[in-house]
Amino acid sequence: MDKKEFLIRLADDKIENLWVTYHDYNGRACAKTLPKSKFESAVEDGVAFARANLNFGVDDHNAPDGIWQAQTGDFLAMPDPEAYWKLPYLDSTAIVFCNMLTEAHQPFDGCPRQNLVKTVSSYAARGIDISAALEAEFSLFNKTVDGDYAPDRAGGMFTVAGLNQFAELLHEIVVALEAMGLQVEQLGKEYGPSQFEFSLRYGNPLAAADSCLISKEVTRALALKRGLIASYMPKPFTDLAGNGLHVHLALWDRGSGENLMSGNPLSEIGRQFTGGLMRHAPGICGLGAPTVNSYKRLQPASWAPAHIAWGVGNRGVLLRVPDVNQRCRVEYRAGDNTCNPYFFLTALLAAGLDGIQKDMDPGDPFNDEDVGHFSEAQRRQHTIDYLPRTLPVALDALENDEVLMSALSPVIGPEFIKVKRQELETYNLTVHPWERQMYLEAT
Ligand code: GLU
Ligand code: MG
Repeated sequence: MDKKEFLIRLADDKIENLWVTYHDYNGRACAKTLPKSKFESAVEDGVAFARANLNFGVDDHNAPDGIWQAQTGDFLAMPDPEAYWKLPYLDSTAIVFCNMLTEAHQPFDGCPRQNLVKTVSSYAARGIDISAALEAEFSLFNKTVDGDYAPDRAGGMFTVAGLNQFAELLHEIVVALEAMGLQVEQLGKEYGPSQFEFSLRYGNPLAAADSCLISKEVTRALALKRGLIASYMPKPFTDLAGNGLHVHLALWDRGSGENLMSGNPLSEIGRQFTGGLMRHAPGICGLGAPTVNSYKRLQPASWAPAHIAWGVGNRGVLLRVPDVNQRCRVEYRAGDNTCNPYFFLTALLAAGLDGIQKDMDPGDPFNDEDVGHFSEAQRRQHTIDYLPRTLPVALDALENDEVLMSALSPVIGPEFIKVKRQELETYNLTVHPWERQMYLEAT
């Protein structure tokens, strides 16, 4: 769809409010709404936002050492007609995701979407197509009278009863997503109380990230209409299931359309790709699991990985190969929804490509054992490493990973790390309730 066709589409859809949207480095959707009279200029010239917005954390404080501050001007958010959806639950309103340009209309090297496309094109240059599918888990909460949160209902894992408790909301979500052209494979009742997961049909990596992000907004908005908070926070409660973001990746031959990963169980290139993901897993954590809360989810024997291992059909490892035949792919299980999925996918693909280029080997698979149950002696005997156990370790690993940092462009990597270290600093300086419970009377 070119610009002219996009304007016609907006008119045909009778849109009166266009939410011109980009995703910040925390993965948050940020937007301005534009009235009809401004559609043409938005589509032709983009919409200006302060570059400094990209140096802000989820607490809306900016990283003091960020390169973008009040005086550093704007980027232009240029609508991508391929990432446009009419929102069925709002009157005459649509959302469009954008690429970022400089004020001189040149590509801006701080743009997460274009950065991902660059990495994908390194595969295309080798005759490889990538498909990606994202599975996001979320839980439905109520705010309690004391200002805390509680799961809305107690429905059990994969139960019909659990589906039934939210049947109308789930119906609204599925109908809305389908009306928007998003293909829902499944919407399942997950392990935790009021916990669900949506799986979307695979697509190219950019489309997969876009689809996941818009689906999050739809679930959040429709839950809110029913007074519920749909949260994708990785580990909302110590004793309840975490919310993951699993990423399935497959390599295909551009010419023949053949799956390139399928082997016994993996082809040579499948092994190399998986080997690259394992080698770079510590740095990938900095992007895929980028909050202090992420590491409370990544615990041994929790169905979320804490170790670097792979296996066929094994949900107890970092990299699961769910299918070894024509739909052969790897599922990376350590990411969560506090990430910016464009960065996360960039990191995964850069790591896989490095594995292919340097002929990396993932070692033996663990098909039948949950490595999270291994004793320390078994872990050493099998030479299995831990993923980073905390955010500072993951950020250091990312900073020291030249392959990932260069895939992120010279500005995205350093600025992302500054934003995250600023967030970490506020966590470190905050006295948490646990500390009072532990020390107040004991000392
Ligand atoms: N909730 C688990 C996680 O945090 C995943 C459960 C599953 O296998 O889908 O990763
Ligand atoms: Mg799941």
